[in-house]
Amino acid sequence: MLTIKKVPTLVSNYQEDQNSDGNCNQPDSTANVGATGCGRNCLGNCCLPVSQLPLYAFKVNENDLDKKSTYSCNGVSPMCFLNNLLLGQWEDRMRRGLFRYDVTACETKVIPGRYGFIAQLNEGRHLKKRPTEFRVDQVLQPFDEKKFNFTKVGQEEVLFRFEPSKDDMSLFFPAHPVDAGSSSPSVVAINVSPIEYGHVLLIPCVLDCLPQRIDHESFLLALNFAKEAADPFFRVGYNSLGAFATINHLHFQAYYLSVTFPVEKAPTSRIMSRKGLHGSELVVSELQDYPVRGLVFEGGSTPRDLSDAVANSCICLQQNNIPFNVLITDCGRKVFLLPQCYAERQALGEVSQELLETQVNPAVWEISGHMVLKRRKDYDDASEERAWKLLSEVSLPEARFEKVKACVSTSAGIQLGPDNRSLDMKEGPYDSQTPPVASHLHQRCLVTSSLASTL
Ligand SMILES: [Zn+2]
Repeated sequence: MLTIKKVPTLVSNYQEDQNSDGNCNQPDSTANVGATGCGRNCLGNCCLPVSQLPLYAFKVNENDLDKKSTYSCNGVSPMCFLNNLLLGQWEDRMRRGLFRYDVTACETKVIPGRYGFIAQLNEGRHLKKRPTEFRVDQVLQPFDEKKFNFTKVGQEEVLFRFEPSKDDMSLFFPAHPVDAGSSSPSVVAINVSPIEYGHVLLIPCVLDCLPQRIDHESFLLALNFAKEAADPFFRVGYNSLGAFATINHLHFQAYYLSVTFPVEKAPTSRIMSRKGLHGSELVVSELQDYPVRGLVFEGGSTPRDLSDAVANSCICLQQNNIPFNVLITDCGRKVFLLPQCYAERQALGEVSQELLETQVNPAVWEISGHMVLKRRKDYDDASEERAWKLLSEVSLPEARFEKVKACVSTSAGIQLGPDNRSLDMKEGPYDSQTPPVASHLHQRCLVTSSLASTL
């Protein structure tokens, strides 16, 4: 068994209630079930079914990947509604003091160089907690209800539910009983240790207690989250077990960062494709000239087509016990799949002391080029060369990466070739709007603090 010791990031204030056995000092969530819940107003079976959380029901668009949503929202640009809701609610939780530190006070800079790696000094994220042992050689591990999971979180950390609409439009309900909708709501909650403005967790079907593993419906939900936000600066990420996920309860992360990520700029080489309906094409490319080997999925005949291709690939990696990270960008039109072996190398003692001392955990954000640094020294000395060196240790070696490509080709039914190289650096569709220094403020939507009304 391979394990590493790391200081776990607290994503919820309820994680602190864990005792030394990793068990929660909280009442059994199956006890006291009734109309009033357990009294803690939690996300468990005791309280969630009788809750009145806001519901954002998104229009299910099975037909067209690029078609914009057609709802209107009280004079606000429709694309901004979800962003306003999310950020308005997020700021409300900030005012209520639910975060462990003020992320807007963390220093951030773009490191000079070709790729523009982003460095953040975040000294508050890992303090006040002792290291915990994590098993890193098992991508699939069963759900353990004794360990911290999101059913233990208080509802004040939830911003809204995010679920498919039963009607042919996106709808918002400021307070919606769970009984009237799904029996196991999918929720968007704050990450109380944010690494950027608007950092949230998307927890699919929270009462189903799914372990941290990709399945088709959950991945489609995450893709729809990025699509519905319709903002290229809003990215959704995923870490598998063994690739720096620390909670074995299915969740995605997301936040706004108003610069192009280095991984989005990397040149790519097209290696697989599949023709679909109406002249559509699903294309898989390989990252070139980037420190981490990875694949990029684009196109497809529908959002589900793209989503299923990625989900099938992830499921194959899971079955082959290959840890990976996923980044959903470009409003759900582009997905990066990044297998990694840093935790394994760390457990085997193959990572240099110099890198270990930085305590940087190369999860999805770091691999994509947003380096969250814990020491002032590393922040001041940050360079493209150093970022590159760290990320090179994360990458799968060539031979193992070939296995990943085979996995994708067979599981997602995408044929290898033709190999069309386009090795130019990508400008990114939004570089003209990109400020020279990363801003914590979301530029394109006004943030409203009041609870949004029905669309
Ligand atoms: Zn409860």
